[in-house]
Amino acid sequence: MFYLHEPKKINTMQKITVAHGDGIGPEIMNATLSILKAAGARLEYEEIEVGGKVYLSGNTSGIDKNAWDAIRKNKVFLKAPITTPQGGGYKSLNVTLRKTLGLYSNVRPCKSFHPYVKTKHPELDVVVIRENEEDLYAGIEHQQTNEVVQCLKLITRPGCERIIRYAFEYAKLYKRKKVSCFTKDNIMKHTDGLFHRVFKDVATEYPEIESDNWIIDIGAAKLADTPELFDVVVMPNLYGDIVSDITAQISGSVGLAGTANIGESCAMFEAIHGSAPDIAGKKIANPSGLIRASVMMLNHIGQQDVAERIKNAWSCTIEQGIHTPDIYTEGISKKKVGTQEFAEAVIFRMGNKPKKLVAADYDKGVKLNIPAYQRKVSNKMLKGVDVFVDWDGSNPNELATEMSKLNSDIKLTMITNRGVKVWPEGFEETFCTDHWRCRFEVENGHPANSKSIPKLLNKALKVNLDVIKTENLYEFDGVRGYSLGQGQ
Ligand code: NAD
Repeated sequence: MFYLHEPKKINTMQKITVAHGDGIGPEIMNATLSILKAAGARLEYEEIEVGGKVYLSGNTSGIDKNAWDAIRKNKVFLKAPITTPQGGGYKSLNVTLRKTLGLYSNVRPCKSFHPYVKTKHPELDVVVIRENEEDLYAGIEHQQTNEVVQCLKLITRPGCERIIRYAFEYAKLYKRKKVSCFTKDNIMKHTDGLFHRVFKDVATEYPEIESDNWIIDIGAAKLADTPELFDVVVMPNLYGDIVSDITAQISGSVGLAGTANIGESCAMFEAIHGSAPDIAGKKIANPSGLIRASVMMLNHIGQQDVAERIKNAWSCTIEQGIHTPDIYTEGISKKKVGTQEFAEAVIFRMGNKPKKLVAADYDKGVKLNIPAYQRKVSNKMLKGVDVFVDWDGSNPNELATEMSKLNSDIKLTMITNRGVKVWPEGFEETFCTDHWRCRFEVENGHPANSKSIPKLLNKALKVNLDVIKTENLYEFDGVRGYSLGQGQ
């Protein structure tokens, strides 16, 4: 039901790409494939190798061209977790897949199965919708001085619009009542501020759905404490990564939740957890996350009949107390089973409906409708430049004297260190590193001359100032597009 395109006609076989992954990956994938077969899924499989073996063959991306070709051709990818080797320049394959394939929406439904799976939150039923391509995951990191490294946080208007519309459309389709937005826009007024502003704008188009905004810290705390306050929750990438794992874990086990990564052309389905090297090979991993991901996949490709069969058989197994060790609780569970034994228990119950848990009844043939992004053009005016210098002095007044020599129509107005103003009128208590931001601005309401910036940099070179980067300062339609200082 997540699909953005019409699914294939009923009874048509669909070829999907499958990767068995690393660690517990092959164990949970084999269990899931045996259930798909028993349920009569109309699927053909093209197997690819990604992750561990590919990394160790010297390919730092963990995926080769043939695998890319299969994923792009088949459009639908069922993937077991993989292990990213530490260090050595290895790139996270998961992040690469999501960004390269434009899988902008990460949907993570988390639900309690009380009283069959022990949880402190019997009413938890939350769908975390995580932006999947942007934020600090842009992976743009630099060391700029001996003491300072930075990571660029990129939030875009099209990125915000797509994921927020997706969240509201999802809520509408699944008859969910509320969409909540989690941001830290009291501090990051421009990046998280944009996400929040777009959320407020898009929310007005869905008056029938309640909406609210939470600062991420208290929002996450409330979600962990009182999840029944929440329904659908949408947030930027990093927050969504953390909050969705917490939400899955407090529902009973991180091993229970599946996730869909949806783009306009391709989609990838996986468990939310990793390759669990600590239990790999022990045949005790809970395959439920990948099984539930496969149910999302079947809905996505229009095989709701098979999706219902698997979900109902899985619910029967859970409510009859047949549990893997991660959710096994003395007094609640009836039988402790391994990965494949759990799969066999699901297969044995194929065709049955749960007695207490809600039986699956998926809508057929509905489609999420995400309108194409319309670019808006605004009037952009240059107001100055932030010049970052590597300087190992300690007295900001001395740096100000040097930097003021670079004044032209844009003049030195402020120096900060780690975002804290240290000139003019800094405090001697403020700790300073070797990374200084020197702000040059026009004094009047006129635009700055764009040639002033290269001239300033030339002068800096001549007087041996070590400029490590610049950021231009712009107004957009008369609104300042840069922060004043910390949290402003
Ligand atoms: P993890 O999710 O693999 O494991 C965390 C804890 O949860 C472990 O104690 C593990 O035993 C347990 N656990 C996880 N899945 C379980 C299951 N199905 N049944 C029972 N218990 C389960 O997280 P980690 O240990 O931080 O990461 C291990 C590796 O996985 C790392 O290399 C990481 O990069 C990778 N990873 C991959 C993905 C992915 O492929 N989508 C996602 C997250 C992490």
